[in-house]
Amino acid sequence: MSRTFVGMPLRAGAPFPQAAREAVGDAQLRRNLGHATRTIRAKRAAVVGEVPDWEALRDSGSAIKADVMARLPELLEQLEEQVTARGGTVHWARDAEEANRVVTDLVRATGADEVVKVKSMATQEIGLNEALEAAGIAAVETDLAELIVQLADDRPSHILVPAIHRNRSEIREIFAREMPDAPANLTDDPRRLAMAARRHLRRKFLSARVAVSGANFAVADTGTLSVVESEGNGRMCLTLPQTLITVMGIEKLVPTWADLGVFLQLLPRSSTGERMNPYTSTWTGVTPGDGPQEFHLVLLDNGRSTALADPQGRAALHCIRCSACLNVCPVYERAGGHAYNSVYPGPIGAVLTPQLLGVAGHEDPASSLPWASSLCGACYDACPVKIDIPTMLVHLRGKVVDADRGRLGPGAAERTAMKAASWTMSDPSRFAAAQRLARTGRLLAGRRGRIGTLPWPLSAWSTSRDVPAPPAETFRQWWARTRGDQP
Ligand code: SF4
Repeated sequence: MSRTFVGMPLRAGAPFPQAAREAVGDAQLRRNLGHATRTIRAKRAAVVGEVPDWEALRDSGSAIKADVMARLPELLEQLEEQVTARGGTVHWARDAEEANRVVTDLVRATGADEVVKVKSMATQEIGLNEALEAAGIAAVETDLAELIVQLADDRPSHILVPAIHRNRSEIREIFAREMPDAPANLTDDPRRLAMAARRHLRRKFLSARVAVSGANFAVADTGTLSVVESEGNGRMCLTLPQTLITVMGIEKLVPTWADLGVFLQLLPRSSTGERMNPYTSTWTGVTPGDGPQEFHLVLLDNGRSTALADPQGRAALHCIRCSACLNVCPVYERAGGHAYNSVYPGPIGAVLTPQLLGVAGHEDPASSLPWASSLCGACYDACPVKIDIPTMLVHLRGKVVDADRGRLGPGAAERTAMKAASWTMSDPSRFAAAQRLARTGRLLAGRRGRIGTLPWPLSAWSTSRDVPAPPAETFRQWWARTRGDQP
């Protein structure tokens, strides 16, 4: 099955190296990204530094998530029981197609042809907006950044700040062009832009009969759902319409309210660099006469069970989507989110996407993502739930190489090169001969001291890197010269 991500089949995109090459050539994009990630990084570092027990909190978050993964079936059944007991209805969806069908049928049953949406990664993952559109139902994004992306017919490029690649003058142009009720004298003053969006959305909130949301957390022992957001638009959607439909990945559980408290401390500081989240909405089933009178919870698998079955990969499901790993990643900062061809960009996308879609060979866009990293480890240091992304990237690279065995292509060239290196290095005389040969590289390097391009198959390495010139003297030669014998 081909899964759709924001209106595009994921596998149809280019593998990361090609997509990133195009993105790094866009100077405006690099400026926008550099400015935004630097600002968020500084804010996060300041507020994290204020918490004396930050490391203990990270350990707690990590332990709670590990416990949830170990008891997932039991906790999901507990959640279903509690939601049902409080007047909600739970639906189980194996994949995107099933989830989209459930939501579309539920909206159709209300007779509505428009829904308002709370920012949600899960609904982007399944391509819900496109599925609703195909059924004649308009989905209106109400998160400001998501609205910008939707009006521009664009794709989100960051988990938390989907329009991070746009600057304010670009946003002014999008509003002036695509928002019918935008004021004629709209400027790029952030306040004026926010007010224009506010007026536009207020009408939608007041007329909507159905809302669709994701969920940041679900508390298994009470059946409570929680959405964490900064604008209050989410709360409008969660409280005003008659019907609320929540699509949630099955990994978003926490066992108890006390556990939720740990994540409500970790998430805002790691994501927006705030001490406390501005709008934290929680709801449990339905309450007669207050808020939506019909509540449906769609529990989405869509590859999560497969990820859970891999002991070395399952920790990717611990992610609380704070985006701290994106903001510290040197690869993300230069390439931006679109190069990942996934709704989950950055370091977490590089480990989550191939697991959700299944690992294939090098040429598969999702399977190229584990190489979208320098393995510097900054993501691991920043992650509030201590997901060891670098180790997982190496593990997934191994799986892609295994999937490539016996096939021709870049993987085959790499395997041949590695076999040749192994043969050469396993014999001292062959190794010494290779070192003598390597010294001719000094001629290629010239006065610059760097080799720009090498012939195929070594060109796979040298097209994106300069190779330093080999030293005038090898270690073994230096040893023989200074000590008088062989090392
Ligand atoms: S992997 Fe960690 S740092 Fe990255 S988004 Fe998830 S929780 Fe945040």
